[in-house]
Amino acid sequence: MNSDTIALPSATPGTRRTLTVQRFGTPGARPQVYLQASLHADEIPALLVADKLRRILQAEEAAGRLRGEVILVPVANPIGLGQSLMGHHVGRFDMEDGKNFNRDYPYLTDAAAERLAGRLTDDADANKAAVRAALADALAEQTPRTEAEHLKHRLLALAIQADYVLDLHCDLEAVMHLYTLTPSADAFAPLQRLLGAQAVFLAEESGGDPFDEAVSRPWNELAKRWPDKPIPMGCHSVTVELRGQADVEHAQAETDARAIAGFLTHVGALSGEPPALPEPLCAPTPLESSEPLVAPVGGVVVFHHKPGDRVEAGAVVADILDPLDGTLTPVRSSSAGVLYAHNATRFTQAGKRIAKVAGTTLRRTGPLLSA
Ligand SMILES: [Zn+2]
Repeated sequence: MNSDTIALPSATPGTRRTLTVQRFGTPGARPQVYLQASLHADEIPALLVADKLRRILQAEEAAGRLRGEVILVPVANPIGLGQSLMGHHVGRFDMEDGKNFNRDYPYLTDAAAERLAGRLTDDADANKAAVRAALADALAEQTPRTEAEHLKHRLLALAIQADYVLDLHCDLEAVMHLYTLTPSADAFAPLQRLLGAQAVFLAEESGGDPFDEAVSRPWNELAKRWPDKPIPMGCHSVTVELRGQADVEHAQAETDARAIAGFLTHVGALSGEPPALPEPLCAPTPLESSEPLVAPVGGVVVFHHKPGDRVEAGAVVADILDPLDGTLTPVRSSSAGVLYAHNATRFTQAGKRIAKVAGTTLRRTGPLLSA
């Protein structure tokens, strides 16, 4: 393992934050797999899984089984990791300006397309190399200013040449689930099965420019702009939701890290016999059909179902109790599907999302991810 330290430009005299990058295998070897943990810095399960994975990769490297290159950023967000407000860790949003650390990544398709005009051929491998170069150039032209913008820029620069990108997150209280681009569903079917994902969400554009789509969407979009040229999906990316924020436990993290290492074997980054794939626990569903359940009134949330439960259309997922007069207001799912996540707190204001169901019937529009 080679470990690098990248210093982010200091935003305040006397302070400096750094990114640690751990590299395994031969630089430039393919496939290249990039993984990062806890971009939302209060999503701690990923930090433990990344530690287990680092140990596995060190053993694999010592045994001579690193065939591709693996790049691991074990703490993707040192800014958010250090943020707290009155004793509560705040890792999802930048306390400087309220922006989500996993939104607003540079959209590079247009700038890459300008560079590619007239340069694509009928050779898919040559086109892949040309797209990678164009994306690197387009990213280099960006001018980040704030510390968080520099962080996003650095992470993207580390990931954008990879064949596979795994962004490790978690939800509030949840079962294992994944988000990926529609054309990458098959590429991540082995990961889905090895991790035992209970929901997999597909979209060509989720809205909000999250990290995972910043590295993968350009490939899908460039292929559509040049339908007569062979442009493969040169980067498949996935957001892995490692259950809920409190699911931090050695044995489970070890199992998850082994599943990810099994996926690395499946794609050829590690040599050896790929592990057998368990039966899938779900079929991927459109992200636009995932139903957020919204509290119509404020009050005490009493859940009737836990993450992983299958609910029918019309099922009461929770009651909201008005603690002043005892009124109970039911919150129903209009979709049938798996309740894959719900809030970790048991009080809500009116209008807040309290749970999510992986349905198949809704056709939501606009931004599809949580705020
Ligand atoms: Zn997250």
